[in-house]
Amino acid sequence: MDEAFIQRARELAKPFRVDDGERFRLADVDPADTLHLDSEDKPRAKEALAQGIEVLAEMQDMLYAQDRWSLLLVFQAMDAAGKDGAIKHVMSGVNPQGCQVFSFKAPSAEELDHDFLWRCAKRLPERGRIGIFNRSYYEETLVVRVHPELLEKQKLPPKLVGEKLWKQRFQSFRSFERHLTRNGTVIRKFFLHVSKGEQRKRFLERLESPEKHWKFSAADAREREHWDAYMEAYEDTIRETARKDAPWYVVPADNKWFTRIVVGAAVIDAMASLELAYPKPSEEARAELAAARQALLGE
Ligand code: ATP
Ligand code: MG
Repeated sequence: MDEAFIQRARELAKPFRVDDGERFRLADVDPADTLHLDSEDKPRAKEALAQGIEVLAEMQDMLYAQDRWSLLLVFQAMDAAGKDGAIKHVMSGVNPQGCQVFSFKAPSAEELDHDFLWRCAKRLPERGRIGIFNRSYYEETLVVRVHPELLEKQKLPPKLVGEKLWKQRFQSFRSFERHLTRNGTVIRKFFLHVSKGEQRKRFLERLESPEKHWKFSAADAREREHWDAYMEAYEDTIRETARKDAPWYVVPADNKWFTRIVVGAAVIDAMASLELAYPKPSEEARAELAAARQALLGE
């Protein structure tokens, strides 16, 4: 494993890592930030991403062989922030058998008949796998908070719906994540932070090119009207749930090439912290391997 490369990845991701929520302010992150890099560095950034993808593939192979840890990557963002593209690019090198992606949409009737963690708990990655949540239980303090009428659909006993509801949801997130962490799931959460102006530009592109029409929905444009409420909800959610062992990365998302290298770097950093290695066969297993080899050679 290329230690110098891993170190560089760690340094690139670090400025965007939030592991002490109390000090976090969304206003401190500029969606257009590209650190010391500018658009002339784009080709080099692409090269670094390609190298990162190879490193990730190698690490994932060990994660799978070792079969002890699992990695859960949670992606949240406003529409058109580039979640899908980031997931597609960063994970492009990994073996599909070791990676599971789930997209969480508005909950179904069956899902509404359960507590809000149920549908996510069912889709957690198995040991040795990388699980990606494209949206997640975090929608419960984002879209549901911005649109409280969604809460009514959840059929909670009225007695349980009070002022403390959002605080209680944050508590649920934290204890759920602590539980998973203690049982071998490493959690990293990403908020791809796009500006309102850049979202407008991307929506217009979707409207102007026929091959992108399918990506546009009028509902997405309507959600823009609630922009400030969403930003407040994101800030509060991150402040309440960023912890050392389940950090958020608030990634500038106005430049897709930059978003992708930061996400890639954060994933490499997370995997590198696991001291992955191929399992060593036991004495007995080695004897079996030697015997099998002899038998094959003797055919
Ligand atoms: P894209 O639009 O890029 O295909 P998307 O993630 O926006 O991807 P959509 O099909 O638009 O996918 O569906 C996601 C919608 O479901 C979002 O508007 C989201 O807020 C909503 N949603 C997700 N979880 C919940 C939830 N728990 N309660 C209510 N709405 C939710
Ligand atoms: Mg959408």
